[in-house]
Amino acid sequence: MKSLIGAVLFVAGLTATLAHAQFGRSWPHTPTVTVIGAEVDPRLGLVDEAVAFWNKTLEEIGSGFRLGPVTRIVQPVPDEALHSLSLSVVGGRRGPASVPHVLRDLPGDLRILLASSEIVSFAGPFDANSKRVVGIRGIQYPPMNLPNVARNVIAHELGHAIGLGHNSDPTTLMCGRLCQGSGPSRRRDRQWALCRLCS
Ligand SMILES: [Zn+2]
Repeated sequence: MKSLIGAVLFVAGLTATLAHAQFGRSWPHTPTVTVIGAEVDPRLGLVDEAVAFWNKTLEEIGSGFRLGPVTRIVQPVPDEALHSLSLSVVGGRRGPASVPHVLRDLPGDLRILLASSEIVSFAGPFDANSKRVVGIRGIQYPPMNLPNVARNVIAHELGHAIGLGHNSDPTTLMCGRLCQGSGPSRRRDRQWALCRLCS
C-alpha cells in the first residue's frame, strides 16, 4: 500500500477531487468484486491492494461507500470481447456502451478482467443489470511492465469504477489526458504512461 506512487500526495488532494468528481451513476449497494484471469498473475495482489486503498481512503473522507469482498476466478479471459468494449469506452462513444454478452454473464457486480492482450485499460459503464466491467491491459505490454505502472493503472481504473473522473493534476492517480505534458522526472514519466493507458 505504501508503495502506491504519490499516495500521500494523492490522499492529500483526494478530498477536493472527490468533492468535485463527477460521480455519475452510483452503485445502488456495496458491489461484490470478482477478479477474473489466470491462476498466477502479479496483478491479483495489486487488485487487493487497490481495493484496500480505496476503502481506506473512502473511510478517511467519511464516505459510507465501500467496495465489497474480492473473489478470484480462474478462467480464460475473453480478450476479444474485452478489446471491443475497451474500444467503445476509450473511444468515448455517446450513449450506452454495448457490453458483449460474454462479459455480461460473469459473476460479481464489479468484474475486473486481467487481459493477456494489449488492450487499453478501461472501466466500463453500468450495464442493464447495474454491473460493471474493468479491463486491465496485459502485464507484459509496455508500460505495464515498468515498475509501479500496473499498480497505479489498477488503482486508477478502480477509481473510475467507484465514480471518479479525471483531473489535471499529474501528482494524483486520477489525472487524465492533460498531464501528458508532464516533465521528465521518472515518476512523472510513469504517470504519463498511466495517462496514455486510459482516456
Ligand atoms: Zn482514466
